[in-house]
Amino acid sequence: METSTEGVVPAGPEAGPVDDAAPPSVAPEAGRGVGAVPPASLSPSRAGDFMQCPLLYRFRVIDKLPEKPSEAATRGTLVHAVLERLFDAPATERTAPRAKSLIPGQWDRLREARPELAELFADADEQAAGEKLAGWLAEAERLVERWFTLEDPTRLEPAERELFVEAQLDSGLKLRGIIDRVDVAPTGEVRIVDYKTGKAPRPEYAEGALFQMKFYALVVWRLKQVVPRRLQLVYLGSGDVLTYDPVPADLERVERKLHSLWEAIRLATETGDWRPRPTKLCGWCDHRSVCPEFGGTPPPYPLPVTVPGSGSGSGGA
Ligand code: SF4
Repeated sequence: METSTEGVVPAGPEAGPVDDAAPPSVAPEAGRGVGAVPPASLSPSRAGDFMQCPLLYRFRVIDKLPEKPSEAATRGTLVHAVLERLFDAPATERTAPRAKSLIPGQWDRLREARPELAELFADADEQAAGEKLAGWLAEAERLVERWFTLEDPTRLEPAERELFVEAQLDSGLKLRGIIDRVDVAPTGEVRIVDYKTGKAPRPEYAEGALFQMKFYALVVWRLKQVVPRRLQLVYLGSGDVLTYDPVPADLERVERKLHSLWEAIRLATETGDWRPRPTKLCGWCDHRSVCPEFGGTPPPYPLPVTVPGSGSGSGGA
């Protein structure tokens, strides 16, 4: 694959929102639901939200309800930033000590960009707050160190890092997302790499983990007319590497799946019928207080609804 960036935009630290309508971690200034618009594109994260629970998708994409920052997700962002920046150094200097030395600076940058992250380590007891932060940073160091047991950055020369990609399918459906790393071999073969700071899933759940990678492979295929040779998930939490070599039929299946998903999202958007789907993942959901499954009431639906069969629209309830 040529390394042209036609149709793809590197997403540096200054880039705007890169995920598809990712939930804000602070309340929108204009108030809940104000300025709500129907979803216009799909990212792997938001597709995953809808598959997990349609109501969760609504809360995140349409209502844009704020969510509290989490230690794990923030550590993931920090570790991703460190691994990305390490490639700024000449190949021979991409060592574990160098990578770990980047952590404090990247943490400062992250806190500057998102001041609300300070609340993660807020504690009336200053010593307790300091210890909590130190433990959290030490875990980030362990994750960064583990990466060196899985890949050797002195032998890698990524074609792209933190690459924002967007492609429109023939149907009009727009797909977008961020690819952590793209490697291109001298033969032109493309490898898409994603870092995960969690643990590798059990084999029976590997398909779910690969969905995101096949999504990206489909986008790259549509943009560059090249099917990536390899998809690679690097699990820093458990020290595993999961790979998959896709064929066009795999990606066509993903495309069909995304079309049905998008059709279901379109229908729910028009009717306002977003069903909760409770699972054990509800334990991590920030929106239990407004979820009917937990005795809550969702905020008024901010988009016009169409009553099925009536062909007419009305204001949201
Ligand atoms: S609590 Fe569970 S069912 Fe309710 S919105 Fe969140 S994920 Fe969905």
